[in-house]
Amino acid sequence: MADLHAKGLRQGPGSDRTTLRALALTGLDDSIPLQVADFGCGTGAATLVLAEALPSSTITAVDLEPRFLEDLRERARERGVGHRINTLEASLDDVPLPEASLDLIWSEGAIYNLGFAEGVSLWRRLLRPGGILVVSEITWTTRSRPDELEDYWRREYPEIDTASAKLKLLEDAGYQPLAYFLIPETCWIEEFYRPLEARFPEFIRSASDKTAAQAIVAAEEREIELYESFREYFGYGMYLARY
Ligand code: SAH
Repeated sequence: MADLHAKGLRQGPGSDRTTLRALALTGLDDSIPLQVADFGCGTGAATLVLAEALPSSTITAVDLEPRFLEDLRERARERGVGHRINTLEASLDDVPLPEASLDLIWSEGAIYNLGFAEGVSLWRRLLRPGGILVVSEITWTTRSRPDELEDYWRREYPEIDTASAKLKLLEDAGYQPLAYFLIPETCWIEEFYRPLEARFPEFIRSASDKTAAQAIVAAEEREIELYESFREYFGYGMYLARY
């Protein structure tokens, strides 16, 4: 999986514009030096945008996958923001950062690895009081949906739910919800799926285990097909909350 995603600019749906839109909604002052962390940063799609938009801040980019972090460091150097980004190879369920040390936790397309409820409650202790969490999460966008889609997501991610349910989880975990918006379809198709599909042939060609590689591609193709058929029923929600 990491081989397929390693050469990508992003490992999940999103866009620079969407990251900037969410950042604007935080109301944070970009001239203040903030302690920021990007959880599940991948190769740094959001990390780099944040580093440029918050020129006085320091960002800790956290991921389990060392190849992604290496790629991120190289891109950060090229863009002249390397000195303000620290990479940290760690698991999101046990991030070795001091309690109450962060002004802003950012996490796009990664909290599902822990589950939303678990993630928001574990990460809260790392925020200083008044600190802000910005997290994207797969979200139902209608009250009901076709069985085929429901069955697929209940298998893949049983925590999938509506925005109101996710906002309630944030409240239950002690946060004050600040904003929610649905990220645009272009963030899935043009920004994520098309570049991913373009890497399938080379990924299979260079794989040592072709059968395993083909199975990974088939699963990705299934996910893409489902998005294209049913995109009116689900999407990625961007959630902003203050602790
Ligand atoms: N935020 C990036 C990457 C999203 S993909 C983007 O939007 O492009 C999810 C990322 O979470 C991957 O980089 C994966 O390596 C990382 N990840 C998955 N489980 C993790 C865990 N338990 N701890 C830390 N990182 C994890």
